[in-house]
Amino acid sequence: MTVTRFAPSPTGYLHLGHAASALTGWHAARQSGGRFLLRIEDIDHTRCRPVFEDAIHEDLAWLGLDWERPVRRQSEHRAEYAAALAALDALGVLYPCFCTRKDIEAAGQAPQGPEGPLYPGLCRALDARERERRLAAGAVPAMRLDAKRAAGIAGELSWNEGGPAQVPVDPRRLGDAVLARKDIGASYHLAVVVDDAAQGVTLVTRGEDLAEATHLHRVLQALLGLAAPDYHHHKLVLDDEGRRLAKRGGAKGIRAIREAGMTPAEIRALAGFSD
Ligand code: GLU
Repeated sequence: MTVTRFAPSPTGYLHLGHAASALTGWHAARQSGGRFLLRIEDIDHTRCRPVFEDAIHEDLAWLGLDWERPVRRQSEHRAEYAAALAALDALGVLYPCFCTRKDIEAAGQAPQGPEGPLYPGLCRALDARERERRLAAGAVPAMRLDAKRAAGIAGELSWNEGGPAQVPVDPRRLGDAVLARKDIGASYHLAVVVDDAAQGVTLVTRGEDLAEATHLHRVLQALLGLAAPDYHHHKLVLDDEGRRLAKRGGAKGIRAIREAGMTPAEIRALAGFSD
């Protein structure tokens, strides 16, 4: 049975790109008699607001979507992320990173990744004594994945994209990514992998901008012994000038368009779904 999900972060109002993701997942579940789930990705408490969480429920219902209850909220599952982090640590694929953004910028020579410079590995090279000294001095580190080591353990991987197409995984695509931020003890990458498995998601539908992250997610699934869902990374909804819609940068919120008098059917059509 197909189980899909829509997993927004309540850091702003939903825009047309979100509507496209939600509708893609909802239709995929519907067409196969499967299940459609909603997950609130509120792990980053510094940016999430209850008002946006309420608006997610309201806007999706207004759009004509329905989803199963209970809704999973990441903030209620911190212990599961901590357990996954401990399991990765036991495999020897994590290291503490004490760097500030300034330290990383000052180091220069960072290799380019798909989403900007990759972490240049400064703290990977710290010896055990120096690590102990910093921890004893009260420094709270982030935890990073040692991507090279992880690749060695995970072996060759791929994912199913939109059916039979196999995409080979480049395990070092996002470099030594942060899996536990200093301030929240987890990260999007860690939480999303744990959550998709915990919710039994069989098909992840999300924008193609997140396909880069799937390289890392497949590695984490392999290391944690979790079943890999299929993926469908859909095209992004672009604005009139061909720019991608994002929450920042003036993307039109669904409620703003709705207040301007558009119907749910018109918004569904704008997001690429004429029903
Ligand atoms: N929470 C992410 C976002 O709002 C989506 C994560 C996902 O679909 O995997 O962009």
